[in-house]
Amino acid sequence: MERRPYNFSAGPAALPEEVLRQAAAEMLDWHGSGMGVMEMSHRGREFGAIIAQAEADLRELLAVPAHFKVLFMQGGGIGENAIVPLNLSRGGVVDFVVTGSWSAKSYKEAQRYCEARLAASNESDKHTSLPSPAQWRLSPEASYVHICSNETIHGVEFHELPDLAALGSRAPLVIDCSSHILSRPIDWSRVGLAFAGAQKNIGPAGLTIVIVREDLLGHALPVCPSAFDYRIVADNGSMYNTPPTYAIYIAGLVFQWLKRQGGVAEMERRAVAKAALLYGHIDGSGYYVNNVAPGCRSRMNVPFFLPDDRLNEAFLAGAKERGLLQLKGHKSVGGMRASLYNAMPVEGVQALVDYMREFAAAHG
Ligand SMILES: *Cc1c(COP(=O)(O)O)cnc(C)c1O
Repeated sequence: MERRPYNFSAGPAALPEEVLRQAAAEMLDWHGSGMGVMEMSHRGREFGAIIAQAEADLRELLAVPAHFKVLFMQGGGIGENAIVPLNLSRGGVVDFVVTGSWSAKSYKEAQRYCEARLAASNESDKHTSLPSPAQWRLSPEASYVHICSNETIHGVEFHELPDLAALGSRAPLVIDCSSHILSRPIDWSRVGLAFAGAQKNIGPAGLTIVIVREDLLGHALPVCPSAFDYRIVADNGSMYNTPPTYAIYIAGLVFQWLKRQGGVAEMERRAVAKAALLYGHIDGSGYYVNNVAPGCRSRMNVPFFLPDDRLNEAFLAGAKERGLLQLKGHKSVGGMRASLYNAMPVEGVQALVDYMREFAAAHG
């Protein structure tokens, strides 16, 4: 069979082909139950087994400690921009570190629910660097500190999470890790809550994963919708309302695929190799440019520019002809963006680099 095109979408993004084939094979009849997963009661034995396995595998992959709850929710990353302050802010002060579009959105949304303060920003660098944690203006009374650990649009990644305790803060760290979850380990000793929309590096849109330290539950503001109250969601095993069952099933297949590949350590090894290949080519090309400071370049989302924007359409058309899809940059940044999530094999990145070389030679 002919290979599928390489899909560089930032999200919803490519899934492992093995997972799609398995889902197709099980579409009409899951494990002899006579039902497809979409047709099952979320409270039945079959789906109970699916969600329990998914949670166990996710916990194993990310080494989630027992005192953290794993919640399968809806609302996406943008939903969490409200749900986190509704649950954790207690209506008080929250510190935000703005490093790109996503943390900027989080900061703005939180202002509806709490006193959101800007602790640091890289706006003066056009979101191409990371402000050093030692320089952050942290509030002693903050309920939490929010960062986006990988900025999907600007391609800026925290390669190490800040150690707030070492900075003299007792506030828990909240990370929006939507676009790099499962590409590297998470140091849970530094994190109070991690959230991720599934459609970047996990599975289908519609599922949002929240991993939260147990002692942070139970402080939701009275206006918080019950379905978004972490305590209620946790106490009901993510079944207070109907969870996105099919998305959870696909995420579970992805977790199993990740385990077969060698887990998060292997994903990190591949991510390092894929990013090195693409950034190495960009920097050495004398043609393409990436403006992000080398120490904080994202391994997952690589924005890059051609020397002349008038070549963009030709670049994208040639890429498509070669089976290299969805490379157009986000409209707020322009240029190109290649997303190199777990499902992107190194062969896909090599094919992109080969094409980039050919294009530069023809148009240089
Ligand atoms: C995509 C993305 C979001 C938004 O997710 P929605 O599901 O559209 O709400 C939030 N944060 C980050 C880092 C993202 O990449």
